[in-house]
Amino acid sequence: MSRIRLLPEIVASQVAAGEVVERPASVVKELVENSIDAGARQIDVIIRRGGISLIRVIDDGCGMDRDDALLSLERHATSKIRSAADLEAIATLGFRGEALPSIASVARFRLTTRERDAVAGTEILVNGGKIDVVRDGGEAPGTQVEVRSIFYNMPGRRKFLRSENTETRKIEHQLHLQAIGHPDVGFTFVRDERVVFQLPAAAGLLDRLRDLYGAASVERLLELKGNATGQIRLRGFVGKPGVSRNTRDQQLVFVNGRAVENVVLNAALREGYHTALMRGQYPVTFLFVDLDPGSVDVNVHPAKREVRFRVPSEVREAVVHGIQRTLESDRSDWQEQFRAPAALSMSPAIPPTASATPEVKPAHGELPQFASDFALRGERSFEIRAAPSSVIPSREDERVHKLPSGPEQAAPPKPPANQNFQIIGVLNKLYVLMENAEGLVLVDQHAAHERILFEELRRRMEEQGVPSQRLLLPQTFDLPPRDAEWVERNVAVLQKMGIGIEGFGPNTFKIDSLPVFVSAPDAVQFMQAVIDELKSASNSSSPLRLGEDMIAKTVCRHAVKANDPLRYPELEKLIQDLLQCDLPYCCPHGRPTMIQISHAELEKKFGRKV
Ligand code: ADP
Ligand code: MG
Repeated sequence: MSRIRLLPEIVASQVAAGEVVERPASVVKELVENSIDAGARQIDVIIRRGGISLIRVIDDGCGMDRDDALLSLERHATSKIRSAADLEAIATLGFRGEALPSIASVARFRLTTRERDAVAGTEILVNGGKIDVVRDGGEAPGTQVEVRSIFYNMPGRRKFLRSENTETRKIEHQLHLQAIGHPDVGFTFVRDERVVFQLPAAAGLLDRLRDLYGAASVERLLELKGNATGQIRLRGFVGKPGVSRNTRDQQLVFVNGRAVENVVLNAALREGYHTALMRGQYPVTFLFVDLDPGSVDVNVHPAKREVRFRVPSEVREAVVHGIQRTLESDRSDWQEQFRAPAALSMSPAIPPTASATPEVKPAHGELPQFASDFALRGERSFEIRAAPSSVIPSREDERVHKLPSGPEQAAPPKPPANQNFQIIGVLNKLYVLMENAEGLVLVDQHAAHERILFEELRRRMEEQGVPSQRLLLPQTFDLPPRDAEWVERNVAVLQKMGIGIEGFGPNTFKIDSLPVFVSAPDAVQFMQAVIDELKSASNSSSPLRLGEDMIAKTVCRHAVKANDPLRYPELEKLIQDLLQCDLPYCCPHGRPTMIQISHAELEKKFGRKV
């Protein structure tokens, strides 16, 4: 007797539903996508009890006639593609013809729909995949789908549902995605009879983001500087450097209008932000990647969350560069704040020009009291302390910002003469207090120095390689095969970074020099640490990125220590150098280097303004 049997249609739908309808939020996703594909201008989503008891999606889209309405409930029935060739370039959100029958097979389902000019519409009731009623109905033109008691006939599935609150949050997240992906569509979300949000059709993405997250959040975003010409177009908004979250929840990426999760894009974002992100943090992005539908495959996963790019490296490059350009473009705004001709109200607390005087002599007579306090405190902390001589083998008074320089080194860029900021003093031997046009600025001198060193080293690495220092005695060491393989693969980069390493037999290496800025007593131990740290971090990224990682990790240890006292000229140079950096506002680990407290904020704090 044969054992293979065709599954009844309902069971087949339920199997498909297993992939498409994971939870109430997936129902919302599919229904809203259908509404958008139907050209809706307004979509209302109403849920009860986390969508478990009710999901209703109402749109004003094109609607369906009765035949189509019945057909839409059949599996593999779709109006969006006709042939296998169409699969190559999908321009709609849906195309699989699976969602409606899948949803209808695991819930109590009601569809009402009416075409714009039709006299009457259609109402269809389906229970657990079985059509119960078909009759005239449907009020306004458009479509309304109601899904009640999801998984009522699949107790196993129901058990996997989370609390109503969790399910609601997932639905809300899904709606955010759709609302951001389609700012020109109005959205209303009602939960348990309460309006959660009501988003009018917006003129553009920025308006939509403002409506969703508030004006203050939008202030923290930068408009993406995309390349206008190429095959891959980027647009949207991304968080300024230093703006981050500890989950990926606000790292949103849309490919041709579809919210997707994609490892290539995730990696590209991480790389684009690179040193502007703290470890374990994720950027905030509303990134839109638009490209020829033919060069992206959306038919990867039944829930259509994933996409595959035909040429992933092109997409990656475009995104990395787009993000980098955008983050760096923000620098000019910052520099402006330090340049604007401000009516600096305070007399200099310390001599303003880069005099060589090692000691600071505050002009007590001219100073407002608190400024002179800072200056006094400054005076104490400005004393010269012997630097650990091994840190950077350069003259001591240069160690703030200069690296040991070879004759080939280009002169650092001259700071513009019109910079306008006033150093007030140093707080707690760490925070430089300054005044600029906008108000008060606090600079973390350690973080600032890290950023400067980092960019300087990176430049050198890109240009001629980091200068290295010979070891007294070259050392040989063995590595486990995987580490050895990693070193072999990256030996050129390591050498560019000033690490003199070469193969010395299978799995054996010889090291004879280290970068000058590294003061490791044990070269082998240092190498081991470098391998451990970089191996995991940089598996997939470029050699350059590896170099950056390496620099970022080592720089920290050698930047000015938190409580290293600096003299005024050093401080001034530090700030000027910082403002010249590509990303002045965060250290190579993504921590902020400066905090601006505006006059307005101060006035608010002191109750002068509300
Ligand atoms: P798909 O979206 O992949 O085509 P669905 O099962 O989600 O498959 O929908 C089947 C068909 O039903 C769609 O192709 C579309 O023609 C029609 N349809 C679904 N929802 C709507 C709607 N809200 N408005 C108009 N037509 C719809
Ligand atoms: Mg669909």
